[in-house]
Amino acid sequence: MSHHTIPAVPAASGGQTSGALLELRHITVAYGGFTVAYGGFAAVDDVSIALKQGGALGVVGESGAGKSTLARVAAGLIAPAAGRSLLDGRELAPIRRTREQRRRIQMVFQNPDSSLNPSHTIRRILAEGMILHGMLGPHPPRDVVDARCRRLLAMVGLGEEDDILARRPRAFSGGQRQRIAIARALAVEPDVLVADEPTSALDVTVQRGILDLLVRLRREQGLALLLITHDLGVVNAVCDEVAVMRHGQIVADGPADLFFHAPLAGYSGDLLAAAREVAL
Ligand code: ADP
Repeated sequence: MSHHTIPAVPAASGGQTSGALLELRHITVAYGGFTVAYGGFAAVDDVSIALKQGGALGVVGESGAGKSTLARVAAGLIAPAAGRSLLDGRELAPIRRTREQRRRIQMVFQNPDSSLNPSHTIRRILAEGMILHGMLGPHPPRDVVDARCRRLLAMVGLGEEDDILARRPRAFSGGQRQRIAIARALAVEPDVLVADEPTSALDVTVQRGILDLLVRLRREQGLALLLITHDLGVVNAVCDEVAVMRHGQIVADGPADLFFHAPLAGYSGDLLAAAREVAL
């Protein structure tokens, strides 16, 4: 399928100085080796995206489109068979990233139940990354760590009850657990948050709160978001750029307001309609 780029959008695969914070260029991932030659397929097939400083890019598409795979490449969790990743225009190693590079791109997963260790206290969950990355200097005293943990919890809208840091994930609801997972990511002051279906495992009633939180963090912390979702409504609530994936490729991309408020003069209604159909 050809790659339609909505006009007037700088191409993600542009020149060397695109000014993007995070760029993935011509990424291809084929699980189980290069099966393409034997009639297999690439989970991600020559995909390029660019995330601006403080921007919010939604990657949307049906299940199996390759969205999670792309997110994992962005976060340095899997190495692509081909393609490059750049942060501030500088080459990122596929997986063996420097500690600083790992700190700057954090990931939140769909299910906080599997991403939070149930036997660890909230204090430990939040403090581990902070201490690893030396956010509070070497050997920070416990009261300094605790104060920082409480600020993080407040940032994600969780109460500051005295014993909250000593509790374990199961003491919290699904939505609260996802807030804790987001707080853990924020603890190391990343520039980019890669969120893979962050609301899909949650009750409908709490989904909106998490989306509002992401919007607020972006505004208040200048956090850039790469948001993976099958749900166009999620993209509409949070993102200012959209890329639609299908069968491992980007089939449409552009600014969210054009995407959601079409038809606009000069834009192909057919393209947008097709993209929406794919995304739904
Ligand atoms: P999405 O996030 O859009 O649902 P994924 O990136 O999870 O898509 O999957 C893209 C394709 O890669 C699918 O065909 C899926 O079955 C396959 N796939 C995903 N993860 C793995 C894996 N670990 N091993 C083999 N195939 C995988």
